[in-house]
Amino acid sequence: MNAGVVGTLRKLIGEDWVLDNLEQTKGYLYDQTEELIRPRAAEDSIVVKPGNTKEVSEILKYANEVKIPIVPRGGGTGLCGAAIPTKSSIILSDERLNKTIEVDELNLMVTCDAGVTLAALLEKLKEYDNLFFPVHPGDEGAHIGGMVVQNAGGAKAVRHGIMRNHIKGLEVVFPTGEITNLGGKLIKNNSGLDLLHLMIGSEGILGIVTKVILKLYPEPKYSGTLLVSFNNREDAIAVVPQILQRGIIPLAIEYMERDVALESAEHIGAKWPAVDGSVDVIIILSEDKEDTLYEKSEEIVEICDSNNAVYTSIAESAREQNTILAVRSNVYTAVKHNAVDGLDMAVPIGSIPDFMREIFRLADRYGAKTPSVGHAGDGNIHNFIMRENGEIPPYYEELKEEMYKTAVKYGGTITAEHGIGKTRVPNLALQLSHKEIELIKAIKKAFDPNGILNPGTVVNIE
Ligand SMILES: Cc1cc2nc3c(=O)[nH]c(=O)nc-3n(C[C@H](O)[C@H](O)[C@H](O)COP(=O)(O)OP(=O)(O)OC[C@H]3O[C@@H](n4cnc5c(N)ncnc54)[C@H](O)[C@@H]3O)c2cc1C
Repeated sequence: MNAGVVGTLRKLIGEDWVLDNLEQTKGYLYDQTEELIRPRAAEDSIVVKPGNTKEVSEILKYANEVKIPIVPRGGGTGLCGAAIPTKSSIILSDERLNKTIEVDELNLMVTCDAGVTLAALLEKLKEYDNLFFPVHPGDEGAHIGGMVVQNAGGAKAVRHGIMRNHIKGLEVVFPTGEITNLGGKLIKNNSGLDLLHLMIGSEGILGIVTKVILKLYPEPKYSGTLLVSFNNREDAIAVVPQILQRGIIPLAIEYMERDVALESAEHIGAKWPAVDGSVDVIIILSEDKEDTLYEKSEEIVEICDSNNAVYTSIAESAREQNTILAVRSNVYTAVKHNAVDGLDMAVPIGSIPDFMREIFRLADRYGAKTPSVGHAGDGNIHNFIMRENGEIPPYYEELKEEMYKTAVKYGGTITAEHGIGKTRVPNLALQLSHKEIELIKAIKKAFDPNGILNPGTVVNIE
C-alpha cells in the first residue's frame, strides 16, 4: 500500500492503529473459509483500527476520496469469505469499538458498540437477574456488528428467530463519512423505507455499523435438553416437522450425525453421552413452569418413540446441557481440516424429510462423503463436502450446484444464515431472478457510488 496512504491514515487515527506489515496483517486476511477464497492479490492490504465513530467516518471519507477499497472486519468468524479482501484494501477492524454495553432494563434493550463480542455481551447479561439475548451462532468470538450485517442465526432460532428479529436501532457510517442513526428503541416505526432492515444482512457492502440496539427478553426459569438417537437419518429428520406440528416450539431442534458428534466431542475433550444409534436430534426446551417442561418433554419423547428412537436422555443441569451444546457448536471447527465447504441450505420445514432424502441420494450418486448437522427446526441443514485424500474432489462444484438447485426446487435458499459473501457470488443467480440481482446492484450503487465497500461481496459490480 502506498506510503502516502499509510501516513495519512496514521495522522487520522494515530501511529499505533495502522498496521502495514504482513506479519501483523496476515491474521486479518482470512475468515473461516480460507480454503475457498485466497487473498493473494490483497497481501499489501493494511489494517486500521479506529477507536470511535468519528475516526471511522474520517477513514471512510478519505478512502472514498482516493477510491481505495475498504473491507470491514468484525471477529473474522464468517463462513462465506465476506471479510476476506481480494485486492489491495484498507481492512477496517471494529475491534476497538468495544467499550459500550449499556443495558436498559426499563425498555428491555441493550446498546452495544459494534466490536463487542457475543461472549462479552453474554457475560454482561449475567450481571442481571434474568435477562436473555437469544441469538447464538456457534462462535462467541463473533462481533455484534458482524452478527448484524451477516443477519446471524444459530441454534436458538426455532423460537426466537434470527438477528433481524431483535435489532431495533443502528448507528451507521456511510462511504461519504456521513454518520446516521437508523431506527431506535421503538416498537412501531413506519417512517419511510426501512433502511435499518436493508443494513441487516448487507455483508459490509452498504455502510459500517458502529453501534447496535438489541432487544432483550426475560429468561424462562426452567430448561432441559433432550438427546434422542436414531438408527437412520430418515427417522431422525421425520420427527422435526412432527414436533412443530404439535404446537411445541422448543428453543432449538438440532440434527447431528454421530460421526461428527464424536469428532467434535473429541476435539473439545468432551464425552458424547449417546452410544446406540447413528444420528442424534437435540431438542432444547425452555419454559417458565417446571411442569410444562416435563409435559413437553414427554410429548416429544412419544413422537420420537413412534419414529423408532433407540436412545433418549434429558440433561437438566447447566453443565450437561452446555456440554451437548458445545459439542454441537464445535462441529465446524472439528471437521474443518478435512472439509472443502460447509453448505448452508434451508427449505420450508414440511419439506425437510424429502429434501434431505434427495440430498443424500445426490451425494451417493457422486460417491461423496457429506456428513451433516443442522438447525433442523429452522429447515436449515449444513452438509459438509469433504476432501478426498486431502484434495478438493473433482465433483465439488457440480455436486454443490446440484444441491443448491435441489434446495431452490423445494422453495428453499442456498444460504440460510452464513451469507453469500464472496464464496457464493457465482451461485446467487440459482436462487434470485435477474431483476432481484439488478435491484441489489442499484441499491449498492445508491449507498456506495464509488464501489469502495467490500468489493466482490454479494454481487460483482465491475
Ligand atoms: C464454529 C462456528 C460456528 C458458527 N455458527 C454459526 C451459526 O450457527 N449461525 C450463523 O448465523 N453463523 C454461524 N457462524 C458464522 C459467523 O459466526 C457469523 O456469520 C457471524 O455473524 C460473523 O461475525 P464476525 O464478527 O465474525 O464477522 P466477520 O467474519 O468479521 O465479517 C462478516 C461480514 O461482516 C462485515 N462486517 C463485520 N463487521 C462489520 C461492521 N461493523 N460494519 C459493517 N460490516 C461489517 C465484514 O465485512 C464481512 O462482510 C459460525 C462460525 C463459526 C466459526
